[in-house]
Amino acid sequence: ALLGLGFLFFMLALYVSHIMSKRAMIPIMHAYTRQREFVADASHELRTPLSVLLSSIDTLQMEETLEKDPFSQRVLANMKGEVKRMTKLAGDLLTLARSDSGTLELQREPLDLRVHAEQMIHSLQPLAEAKQITLRLEGPGTLPIRGDADRLEQLLVLLVDNAIKYTPDGGSVLVALSMETIKSAAALKIVVQDTGIGIPPEEHQRIFARFYRKDKSRSRQLGGHGLGLAIAKWIVDAHKGTIQVVSIVGEGSTFTVKIPFER
Ligand code: ADP
Repeated sequence: ALLGLGFLFFMLALYVSHIMSKRAMIPIMHAYTRQREFVADASHELRTPLSVLLSSIDTLQMEETLEKDPFSQRVLANMKGEVKRMTKLAGDLLTLARSDSGTLELQREPLDLRVHAEQMIHSLQPLAEAKQITLRLEGPGTLPIRGDADRLEQLLVLLVDNAIKYTPDGGSVLVALSMETIKSAAALKIVVQDTGIGIPPEEHQRIFARFYRKDKSRSRQLGGHGLGLAIAKWIVDAHKGTIQVVSIVGEGSTFTVKIPFER
């Protein structure tokens, strides 16, 4: 009977501590949810004034008296650059805040990834040309899969934009798409390879963290704020895939994404 009573007390103690820990967790969870909502709201609210600012700068740039003044044009161009950077930051923060709160749901629709990869190449080609970088796309003429078209195109843009940013003039960037079979399941493989500055091994995990930049001033100069790879990782995770990097400092980096899917 004593043993039984002891066991009963033990179970009761376990139950009480379980309730207490839950209670302690509730305010923390509320604070966390509120903070996420705050970030999402704040970044959403920032977008309207930023787009007003951008169009105001456009108007000023074309204003007759300012149009011929090199100093004013330089200042306005700087302002425009900063406003664009803030707009991108607000958009990226909004994406991450929504992904945290689970309100950013993935579409699982049939799509041809080749079409989206070509669109991505088309939009990033001017960036590559400005640095005399050869940007190539390899793979089958059509890649029918199920996934979130916008997010997968965003993933390609993020990886290729980085590859161009961190590759010196005259280099090359290759995007290779293919299908693979892993353990009898089909998988989409995306490889983005550059001949850029490379990433030292000790940085390979850290680069996927939010706001992590190996060289803050270089990243800032190139228009980055350290959220690109965090978003790329979220898109890959949401598709239940993997992302890996292999790199040699001074020679280049290769990012490989694998995403399982149903044909
Ligand atoms: P950023 O806005 O700084 O580019 P990312 O999250 O996209 O932020 O990348 C994080 C960091 O990873 C970068 O600051 C850079 O140091 C490194 N990085 C990412 N892609 C490459 C690449 N292709 N080559 C070299 N370094 C890279």
